[in-house]
Amino acid sequence: MIIFLRCVSCDKKFDFSKIRYRCDCGEVLEVERSDFLSLKGKISTKLFDTRWKSRQFPYQSGVWRYKEFLFPIDGKYIITRPEGNTNLYNVGKSISNKIGKFTNVDFLYLKHEGENPTGSFKDRGMTVGISYAKLLGVKAVACASTGNTSSSLASYAALAEIPCFVFLPKGRVSSSKLAQSIAYGATNIEIDGDFDEAMSIVEKICNQFHIYLLNSINPLRLEGQKTIVYELLQQLNWKIPNWVVLPGGNLGNASSLGRGLKDLKEVGIIDKFPRIAVIQAHGANPFYRSYKGDFKYRHTMNADTLASAIKIGNPVSFLRAKKAILETNGVVEEVTDQEILEAKKIIDTSGIGCEPASATCVAGIKKLVKKTIIKKSDVVVGVLTGHILKDPENILPSKEKFLRNVQGTTLPHIVSKLLA
Ligand SMILES: *Cc1c(COP(=O)(O)O)cnc(C)c1O
Repeated sequence: MIIFLRCVSCDKKFDFSKIRYRCDCGEVLEVERSDFLSLKGKISTKLFDTRWKSRQFPYQSGVWRYKEFLFPIDGKYIITRPEGNTNLYNVGKSISNKIGKFTNVDFLYLKHEGENPTGSFKDRGMTVGISYAKLLGVKAVACASTGNTSSSLASYAALAEIPCFVFLPKGRVSSSKLAQSIAYGATNIEIDGDFDEAMSIVEKICNQFHIYLLNSINPLRLEGQKTIVYELLQQLNWKIPNWVVLPGGNLGNASSLGRGLKDLKEVGIIDKFPRIAVIQAHGANPFYRSYKGDFKYRHTMNADTLASAIKIGNPVSFLRAKKAILETNGVVEEVTDQEILEAKKIIDTSGIGCEPASATCVAGIKKLVKKTIIKKSDVVVGVLTGHILKDPENILPSKEKFLRNVQGTTLPHIVSKLLA
């Protein structure tokens, strides 16, 4: 058994070719391979640099470029749009950028994962998950979602021509995310309840009807998401930043970040870790609470924040993310909705833009600098997880404030006043 699934809690191993999301003990699983160290010497930064310049399938994808870190799969099963290849914006104070000034960080980079095909980082995990679904020949796929996972799954399922069911918490998904999954042709099912309830329903339905579940509980999703850190390090010419900062909801992305770094170190591509900082919204901060209590308790709560993508009270990847924090000497911080909106305004008016959940990361960087946990001279990379068009409800209720309605002859007069 070269590839297998291993429980994050009790280490029990399971066959990779059999569908399974949880261990018998109830905890989640990770993909492992017993021949991993044989990659040492076979892959190098040079190999990845050569592939980046190549237009050859599947290396034009910012996920499959790093395929040795995923799992062996025949190219005929790979479903890719392609994804990844997202920009790394240099926004440090050292170049007088307003985000750098706002956070007070000299060397700040933002990796914009909202530039993925469906507008969020979820596409990186989805290409891997759906390719495996294609290989297995599953009859249908499903997920529960606050909106971005469903948009992504709907797109990739359509591309793979696999029927797709999406379970959404009623009235809590933004109009643009809902529009995406409807347009891609998914079957959308509203659940009376929040994300955590939708998640527990979809898990039961998938087990009952043998539908392939593509939430981040699925360890293959996390395999794909590891590539964010590979790509951002490649963009930094493989120099290790001091910090990588990202928002935390269901904690899949934080888990993948830690795991991706561990893979790189094991094969000798990097020799130390950046520190990871996970930022949660104050109203959805179970991981922060647990961190504050030295991870003695696993907190859960009824989540409430305007950052809908991280409005999650019982994160599935809790243990996997805890491992990432402990292994990288990481930290967990929280920010208020007010701080999220302040940060979003700076990111938006800088011309880059992102959805509210993503702005959490910049708000967190500002706070950690203030607490001198992040030093202003540190090299910091923040991950912007979603696109500016993803959560319009947070901007549009006040659109009258920003739209000027000017009649005919007074227009030149108004414009000259605005320019004065
Ligand atoms: C899914 C998502 C998150 C949260 O990521 P997790 O892996 O669930 O912690 C944050 N921001 C955006 C935009 C998302 O779509």
